[in-house]
Amino acid sequence: GLAGVPATDLKQTGKDFTSDQEVRWCPGCGDYAVLKAVQGFLPDLGLKRENIVFVSGIGCSSRFPYYLDTYGMHSIHGRAPAIATGLATSREDLSVWVVTGDGDALSIGGNHLIHALRRNVNMTILLFNNRIYGLTKGQYSPTSEPGKVTKSTPMGSLDTPFNPISLALGAEASFVARTIDTDRKHLTEVLREAAAHRGTALVEIYQNCPIFNDGAFDAIKDPATKDHAVIRLEHGKPVTFGPQGEHGLVRDPVSGAISVVEVDDSNRAGLLVHDAHAEDPSLAFAIS
Ligand code: SF4
Ligand code: MG
Repeated sequence: GLAGVPATDLKQTGKDFTSDQEVRWCPGCGDYAVLKAVQGFLPDLGLKRENIVFVSGIGCSSRFPYYLDTYGMHSIHGRAPAIATGLATSREDLSVWVVTGDGDALSIGGNHLIHALRRNVNMTILLFNNRIYGLTKGQYSPTSEPGKVTKSTPMGSLDTPFNPISLALGAEASFVARTIDTDRKHLTEVLREAAAHRGTALVEIYQNCPIFNDGAFDAIKDPATKDHAVIRLEHGKPVTFGPQGEHGLVRDPVSGAISVVEVDDSNRAGLLVHDAHAEDPSLAFAIS
């Protein structure tokens, strides 16, 4: 939330938030689109650049702070949420953002991430999920699909991946959203809502890594499913959904009950109602 951050009537554009640093991601990397979207969106906050801070960990996406003309810190592996927590709690006059990746946030930084979410201090965490370790040249990550063949899993990965959305809800996150690098409109909308949220907002961004995991999100980019491309939770309620078979968890803001959201074969989203107290906790499907 921006409640404590002094507003300004400066007329700013994306250019004002673009640094003079040479951008050093691989050609075609999804990070470029996210950077453009963030630079395009930041003027809408109506804040001075010196009241905005981006803290990152380690990984390709963690180069983000160099490219923004705001304050920033390229910090330590997995620890960006801890550093940002200190900043957000001691400086209410700052809009605090974390940039992290699936390896950084969910492997070495998993503990920091879940505790940041449950503490719910005022910051926005952008989790770039390309389902691979990009910076270290292509090892399977905590979000890689089972059977993933990489340099570190030549016979295919055996591990079940994390779903960052369900992980965040399990950690009692108060705002969770998922969006994708290729949908600038949706990405911008989600950034806006996340920034306005008072507490810790987690935004998972599906991000294509054309070098080590190209096309991981192609099914979602398909024009036929584009309108339903992403799960987005607004105050705990689903607004838009993934393609068929995509699922996530949502919390009912009133009862606190957790439900599984799934998309049926006509692209309608529904709630799979899971009654944890039932003898047979089987799932009943109800179109919402
Ligand atoms: Fe982007 Fe992948 Fe290159 Fe990293 S390795 S900069 S994620 S394309
Ligand atoms: Mg990654």
